[in-house]
Amino acid sequence: MPIVQISARIIRWPEVCACCCRPADTTILVTATRTKGKRVIQTESKSWHVPYCSNCLEHIKVVQELKQFSTAVGHGSSLIALCGLIVAIIIYTSLDDNETSLAKVMTGLVVLATIGLILMTYPYFQRIYEEEKATREAEKQNLEQRLHMYRCSNCATLDVLAVEYNGWYGTVHEFSFANEEFAKLFKNMNKGKCL
Ligand SMILES: [Zn+2]
Ligand SMILES: [Zn+2]
Repeated sequence: MPIVQISARIIRWPEVCACCCRPADTTILVTATRTKGKRVIQTESKSWHVPYCSNCLEHIKVVQELKQFSTAVGHGSSLIALCGLIVAIIIYTSLDDNETSLAKVMTGLVVLATIGLILMTYPYFQRIYEEEKATREAEKQNLEQRLHMYRCSNCATLDVLAVEYNGWYGTVHEFSFANEEFAKLFKNMNKGKCL
C-alpha cells in the first residue's frame, strides 16, 4: 500500500471512493489510537471520515461471508453409525470380565442393528443430504454473483478497507492507501502539505 504523510490540521479528501475511485456516496471512519505515559496510561485517538462507496463496503461484507461459508453438509447415516459405535463400546466395556461372551453377543447385536438401521434409512438421509448440499451450493453461487455485482475492475482491495490511518505525530498524519490513483488524487487535493 502506498504510504502518504501529510502535515495539516485540515485534510481535504477527494470526492471519490478510496477503493475504486468511483463517485463516493458514503464515508468510513478510520481511527488511530496511541498511548502515552508510563504510570498513568493515557490513550488518545484521532479519526478521519474517508470517502467510500456503498458498493465497495458491500463487497467487503460479501467476501467476508464467502470466507466463512462452508458447503460441508453432515449425513444422517454417519450420525447413526457413530451412535451405534458408541453404544457398542459402552456395552462392551461396562460388563465384567466373566461376562465377556455376553458382552460380545450384545455388542454384535448392536452392530447388526446399527447396520440394519443404516440400510433402511440410507435412501431418506441421502435425499436430505443432496437437497441440503444443493441449497448450500446455490447460496454460495448467490454470494459469488453479489460479489461480481459490487466489485469493479478498479477496486484496490476486496476483503479489507482500502485505507488505513497509521497514526500521527504533531500535525503529521500517516495514511496507507491501497488504490494508487486515490493516493495521487489525495496528494493533488492537499498540494504542498504532503511530505
Ligand atoms: Zn468504491
Ligand atoms: Zn471496491
